[in-house]
Amino acid sequence: MPNRLKTACAYFGCPELCEPGQRYCDKHKRQYESVYNKIRGSAASRGYNKRWQKIRAMVLADEPLCRECAKHGIVKAATDVHHIDGNVANMDRSNLEPLCHECHSRKTAAENGRWG
Ligand SMILES: [Zn+2]
Ligand SMILES: [Zn+2]
Repeated sequence: MPNRLKTACAYFGCPELCEPGQRYCDKHKRQYESVYNKIRGSAASRGYNKRWQKIRAMVLADEPLCRECAKHGIVKAATDVHHIDGNVANMDRSNLEPLCHECHSRKTAAENGRWG
């Protein structure tokens, strides 16, 4: 049987360990998802920017490191949140990935077919 390491729950101050690949223990995973869905669902009535700022902060709290850098073995803090499908209205958690500013600029430039 492979030796799979359990990691600590990402919730600040939580002593629980979670299964490999998970960021939160069961309790905090449910808590995170319910808060996330609540913000995401509070849609139309509130302004887009306000909601996006909260969503963005939650994604960065959940995944603080740049996902693109991590692919190359680099540990770098993420500062931006990228919409994977390019649709800014799609705030599904699975459509959002944390990136550092450099990776975000590079990706956005590549997707727009030009720099900037
Ligand atoms: Zn926890
Ligand atoms: Zn990066």
